[in-house]
Amino acid sequence: MNVKIIFQMMLLSALFYVIPAKADWYQHSFEVMGTQAKVEFEWNDKHQAQLLIQAVVDEMNRIDRLMSPYKPKSEISQLNNSAWSKPIKVSKEFYDLLVRSQHFSNLTKGAFDISFSSVGYLYDYRQNKKPTAKQIAELKEAINYQKIVLNEKDNSVFFTDKRVKIDLGGIAKGHAVDQSIHILQKAGIVNAYVNAGGDSRIIGKKNDRLWYIGIKHPRNEKKLLANLPLEAAAISTSGDYERYFEEGGVRYHHIINPETGDSVRDIRSATIIADDSTTADALSTSIFVLGIKPGMDLINAMPNVSAIMVDKHGKLFVSKDLASVE
Ligand code: ADP
Ligand code: MG
Repeated sequence: MNVKIIFQMMLLSALFYVIPAKADWYQHSFEVMGTQAKVEFEWNDKHQAQLLIQAVVDEMNRIDRLMSPYKPKSEISQLNNSAWSKPIKVSKEFYDLLVRSQHFSNLTKGAFDISFSSVGYLYDYRQNKKPTAKQIAELKEAINYQKIVLNEKDNSVFFTDKRVKIDLGGIAKGHAVDQSIHILQKAGIVNAYVNAGGDSRIIGKKNDRLWYIGIKHPRNEKKLLANLPLEAAAISTSGDYERYFEEGGVRYHHIINPETGDSVRDIRSATIIADDSTTADALSTSIFVLGIKPGMDLINAMPNVSAIMVDKHGKLFVSKDLASVE
């Protein structure tokens, strides 16, 4: 072989190495955690893309098994059954999410409180079931995040009141979205979208343009409240229209005011834009409970967090950073 041919072969193999295979978009929708989820990303290998989609589906199902109060063997069910009688050790992941939940409880002075479920477990929105006034009166005191004692020495959890029940529905989907984005990032993906119910997170771009994420209109399914161009952000919406029933003209829905044990009725929709989904998820539930003024005051004091809220009259409110272009 002469030198020229060897050189040409080297050039060819170098080119093959440098020019990546053509990238395609892959997407998959599925049901998990009682809601619709979706993953969408750009990648250059079809087989790997299928494996990554499966990894995201598996991850969300794993988190669901860990955190569903309806699955009798989940860590959360074990706590709800017996953490009042003795401290119970939980996995590091679950423990860390409890620590984050407590952080948001402290930040919101108890508006975000996973022990809302001490009363909340008596609601069944599909069966139009709600607790009686007597049950609420008896159990309301158990809604208090300070009754959840976390011991970081052995990742154990203890409830100081037998009536305490917890539910991570206000933060678990955000965690699942963050975990899914991490899986995709670790595989080298730069352009992706992951959604679970009202929680979405995006990285990179969609075909060289910003991603557009729509916020549902709280009273008209055919309309969007807004369609926002976003880059590397998480966006979560909490609404009174997701899970609810009406009785005597009153709407009973899944966001509970820890002070009353009843649904929050001053807000229809609360959206948070933040850097990660766990934060966005917890804060959207938080400001829904806090209401317009305290909710916006909290968000306006936080760096890199924005909010969009709709009150019970249909009036729109936005955080300071969105209201001015200065
Ligand atoms: P979803 O994405 O399910 O609509 P949200 O982020 O809007 O979730 O949060 C609603 C869920 O949060 C409820 O289904 C319930 O599990 C939980 N939750 C309700 N009230 C509170 C509260 N005061 N603090 C923390 N979590 C709550
Ligand atoms: Mg939330």
